Amino acid sequence: MLSEGSARTGSAEGPSSRAVRVLRADFAGFCPGVERALALVEAALAQGHPLCSLGPLIHNDQVVRRLADEGLRCADVLDDVRPGETLVVRTHGVPASVTRQAAARGVRVIDATCRFVRRAHQRAHDLAEAGYQVCIVGDRDHPEVLGITGSVSAECLVLETPEQAEACAPGPRVGVVAQTTQTASNYRDIVGVLATKCRELVAHNTLCNATADRQSAALRLAQSADVMLVVGGRHSANTRRLVEICAATGTPTYHVEGPDEAKSEWFVGARAIGVTAGASTPNEHIAAVEQRVAELTGAMVGPPRPASARTGGGDDDEGAAGCTPSGA
Ligand code: SF4
Repeated sequence: MLSEGSARTGSAEGPSSRAVRVLRADFAGFCPGVERALALVEAALAQGHPLCSLGPLIHNDQVVRRLADEGLRCADVLDDVRPGETLVVRTHGVPASVTRQAAARGVRVIDATCRFVRRAHQRAHDLAEAGYQVCIVGDRDHPEVLGITGSVSAECLVLETPEQAEACAPGPRVGVVAQTTQTASNYRDIVGVLATKCRELVAHNTLCNATADRQSAALRLAQSADVMLVVGGRHSANTRRLVEICAATGTPTYHVEGPDEAKSEWFVGARAIGVTAGASTPNEHIAAVEQRVAELTGAMVGPPRPASARTGGGDDDEGAAGCTPSGA
């Protein structure tokens, strides 16, 4: 939760006397990468394979607990994978060294690395091979960023903010990729700074379409809603970014993991209550939060979204830009 406070309209009027609506953003909830990972794991569990993932499969505790009950164990490092277990590589991917070591030990692998993450690995690898200094726009300690750095033999520069880009001293030829769940504005701002600090710059926009779809739909809804709820795990980077984006509009925004966290005082005077959710949030969790809001406010819950508006990320078009800054 970013801020406590009453809804933007701030009326003392009781919610039951107003037409209150709960509106769900397009593309809220599971993305294609998470859906694929769950499908791979559930199919393997159904065949009775003992499975082990390096870290929780997705950033949703309830789903992880359910999968644990069905036979998916979670380990921190490859050494903890037990004989006979199949290693599940999460959507975040892993450094190439991990898959090499698993193969060397004869550990069977189910690779659920998301295709958008795989693309970022490939672009970073190709840039390094072509002699560029690889800069990654992303969170330094995020597993996805560690996986990208692990696909490049040379040392990478990881930049989280434009200020860090201002302070860095890159080489003359810079190649940029992004952690898939970064915001487009942070990516653009950092690329803009780097362009002033090198002789040649190639930037591959490896942001994932599903993330961009969620972020722009959440932004649109937050701009018209009186209150926003963002449903998803507190460890989920893409969920936290949705919270930031919604809160930046000035609309009171609350991050909840489940329905019990919603408080009636958040909705005083609100007519339009927006709901969005991170890419690891199951549809039933979003529906449970909407139901709870309806109970607290007497709101009407909007109709379910059509399938075309649920997952997003339908193609993987990539904006790649190159420039040679003048005067550099
Ligand atoms: S958020 Fe994007 S990159 Fe991450 S798993 Fe989903 S589709 Fe893939």
